[in-house]
Amino acid sequence: MSVLKITDVSKIFAGPTVAVDNFSLEVADGELVCLLGPSGSGKSTLLRMVGGFERPTSGLMTIDGDDITHLPPERRPTGMVFQSHALWTHMNVFKNLAFGLKLRGLPQDQITEKVEAVLELVGLAGYGTRGVNQLSGGQQQRVALARSLVLEPKILLLDEPFASLDQHLRERLREEVRDIQQRLKITTLFVTHGQDEALAMADRIVVMRDGRTEQIDRPDVVYREP
Ligand code: ADP
Ligand code: ADP
Repeated sequence: MSVLKITDVSKIFAGPTVAVDNFSLEVADGELVCLLGPSGSGKSTLLRMVGGFERPTSGLMTIDGDDITHLPPERRPTGMVFQSHALWTHMNVFKNLAFGLKLRGLPQDQITEKVEAVLELVGLAGYGTRGVNQLSGGQQQRVALARSLVLEPKILLLDEPFASLDQHLRERLREEVRDIQQRLKITTLFVTHGQDEALAMADRIVVMRDGRTEQIDRPDVVYREP
């Protein structure tokens, strides 16, 4: 059953630049779909529209049948992790994770419980009192992921989350994120321009070019030897 439905969505920037061109996609419950393509192919714009950070010029997006096309980000059941983590450096790890839960009015004991559980999930149990700036780049991205997950989104949106990390760390985090995604069975859209990353992580790969789908299939089919 598909959770996310994107129907005929376009984004035209002034210029005009057609960033996303009549794009449609259905993502099944628990599926991880990679949007793969060269720089400028519209991946990021598409993801930002699903997250509510960019308005579509036309088209429709639904989550579990509900029209989300014009909802602001905070009213969508989506969680987004950006290329650069954008953590709040004046708050420790715990407060970074607790912030969104506080806004939702959760009582303190439940906040603590949820934050500790998610820190455990991303392998950072006991790191709550650390300052964000005391953490390595990889640890900061794990906190950014945790900050999205703690709000229990239906759909996780990842925009090149490992882009600023070195090759070794990327490969490790790739495994970790895939593992967490499968454990939570959380429906995920993952933007990357790295074929190896898409191949290692995706249930399906959407190859994008000029704002459109060039190819869509399972990794073993997309990369089948000719
Ligand atoms: P990708 O994520 O695949 O690199 P983007 O979605 O960032 O692609 O960009 C798709 C196209 O839209 C590019 O031509 C880019 O320059 C253009 N674009 C993206 N954001 C904006 C914006 N805010 N204003 C104008 N053009 C934009
Ligand atoms: P990406 O790494 O996804 O390709 P970019 O580095 O191209 O992203 O763009 C970073 C930011 O600048 C994004 O918010 C994007 O929307 C915006 N942007 C991209 N291209 C343009 C453009 N031609 N004009 C204005 N803003 C743009």
